[in-house]
Amino acid sequence: MGKPAVSLQRLIYRNYLRSALSQMLVIEVVLLLLYFSINNYISERNQAVLLQEVTHNLHTVVLKQAKSTSLQLEEINRLARILQQDHSDFFTHPEPCFLPHGEPELRVHDNGAYYKATDNGGGSLYYAATTTIGAAEQQKARCSERMDSLLKAIVTTNPMVTQVYFNSADAMNRIYPFMTDAAERFGASWDVNDLAFYFLADARHNPQRQPVWTNAYFDPAGQGWVMSCIVPIYRGDVLEGVSGIDITIDNLIQNILQLELSWNAGAILVDQTGAILAMPSQVERILGIQTAPALQYQEPIITTLVPSQEYHLLKSTEPTIRTQLQSLFDTGQALTELHIGDNTYFMLQTVVPETGWRLLVLVAQAEVFAPIDALHATSNRIGYIAIGVMLLFYMIFFVLLLIIVRRLANKIVTPIHLLSEATADFERWRRCNHHAHEVGIVELDRLNTNFNDMVNALEQRTDQLATAESCAQLQEKLATTDLLTELYNRRKIEAVLSEMLMRCERYAESCGVIICDLDYFKAVNDQHGHLVGDQVLTTAARCLKHNVRQTDVVGRWGGEEFLVVCIMVDAAAIHMIAEKLRQALATTAFPVVGHKTASFGVALHRAGETQTALLARADEALYEAKNHGRNRVAIAP
Ligand code: GH3
Ligand code: MG
Ligand code: MG
Repeated sequence: MGKPAVSLQRLIYRNYLRSALSQMLVIEVVLLLLYFSINNYISERNQAVLLQEVTHNLHTVVLKQAKSTSLQLEEINRLARILQQDHSDFFTHPEPCFLPHGEPELRVHDNGAYYKATDNGGGSLYYAATTTIGAAEQQKARCSERMDSLLKAIVTTNPMVTQVYFNSADAMNRIYPFMTDAAERFGASWDVNDLAFYFLADARHNPQRQPVWTNAYFDPAGQGWVMSCIVPIYRGDVLEGVSGIDITIDNLIQNILQLELSWNAGAILVDQTGAILAMPSQVERILGIQTAPALQYQEPIITTLVPSQEYHLLKSTEPTIRTQLQSLFDTGQALTELHIGDNTYFMLQTVVPETGWRLLVLVAQAEVFAPIDALHATSNRIGYIAIGVMLLFYMIFFVLLLIIVRRLANKIVTPIHLLSEATADFERWRRCNHHAHEVGIVELDRLNTNFNDMVNALEQRTDQLATAESCAQLQEKLATTDLLTELYNRRKIEAVLSEMLMRCERYAESCGVIICDLDYFKAVNDQHGHLVGDQVLTTAARCLKHNVRQTDVVGRWGGEEFLVVCIMVDAAAIHMIAEKLRQALATTAFPVVGHKTASFGVALHRAGETQTALLARADEALYEAKNHGRNRVAIAP
């Protein structure tokens, strides 16, 4: 089975639209895909570049901050070394006993402690009650006043330093600034060996005799966050005690908390164990770390204070965050990606070399990529608008195309349709004298021209055929018609009679003939001439033709005689026909001659009778009619 036929118009529509629209659609889709993929690519590239930029920037800031913090602490470290040198000198060369602030007022407190009762401009002094104060101890307490100059100089020259002190192995403490209630604060007894900062400095823990830093801790005396730099004081190989510089690191912490970092980044400072020294509250929330505890210490200042182990970088309430932070802490990676909930963060990490603290910066990826995401969203919006515009354009284009295609299709299809109609009903087309017109399409115009030529050629041939046919008809007419009366001539009426007789024989029908002869016609010629005779003959012929039945045939038998061939008649009927003819002629007004009569011989065909015999009998009857006075009908027996 072949494909169902489709109209030319539909074919043009379908192909034109399909080829034009589908290609355009493909191009548009490709362009859009290209746009979106380039957009994505650029966005991704931008993100990478920006991330690099951001990490570089933050890293620079953090590094600078760490370095500045470290420098400040190094300064303290150097001061500690000076302190170490000075105090070591004191124990190596105790003489002469120099009292920079005059004679101190040293007393035994009620609790048994030996102490300096009044502020002489130097530091305070305390000796635990557990130590027996002999002459040596008294001299040490008195002569160590020499230390006060440096203690005081350090405290007054460095704003970070809150207090500077020396603790001897035999539980003597010298501290600047002066502490009025040192005896109450330190109490009666005090074993320095129990103090963390003391054993940090001993030979076992610090064989290098380097300054060491304690953990940062919170000072209940209102100094806020503090820490100490401790140095061992040796006389030869004898550890005489430790000297320390207490500093407040609140400023350092405030500096970090107040770091103005771009992209809403938050700086975090943790000590070497991960205990948090500084963490903005928004970072606490992100990392799921409980808020900094209200730090309240009741213990004396010199006792070991450690930061809260709860406020700790590695103690997030979220296990997944905890794991990530632990690995970040362990690896010490400079840049780590953290996944917290649905968000991604970047954590930068740098170490404060002096203390081993870590300065960290947390920045949200969304903050970093916000401008790029906004740009990307704008580009995407432009893309969507482009899709809308393209769709609109596509629709307009579709409508325009439809109009153009319709015009084109009509231009092609209409003439073809007209041609098709013309060929379907060629005769009507020809009768209406139509003509295929030019449409402006070469092929169709050629087809129209060819069609017009064909129509003309056909018309010519038809005319020729018609002419030929009319000639034949004329010849046929001439051959069978009597020229004067326009009735059948003798030959034709004989042929008609012959045919009728054959038919009557075959179907056993009844038929007959009537011979009609004008009476005294010769006289007309003689009296009026042949032309009038001819007119009489013509009039008589017309009268006979009008008065016979439609089925009967009249012919000129010769001269002024006519033969009527009657089919399907009996004797009475044929007699009646003859009589009707006789009366008609008798009553006809002939030109010039007026009235004229005729005599009629009638013979009804007998079965098996020949034509000649029939005619002879009719002739005889005519003769009979003439003989009996003319203007009558005689029937052959
Ligand atoms: P009847 O009553 O006995 O028939 O007498 P009639 O004069 O009619 O008969 P007749 O046979 O003597 O004359 C016939 C005439 O018809 C003779 C001839 O001149 C004339 N005739 C024959 N053919 C034509 C013709 O075609 N035109 C004219 N004008 N006359 C014709
Ligand atoms: Mg005659
Ligand atoms: Mg006659």
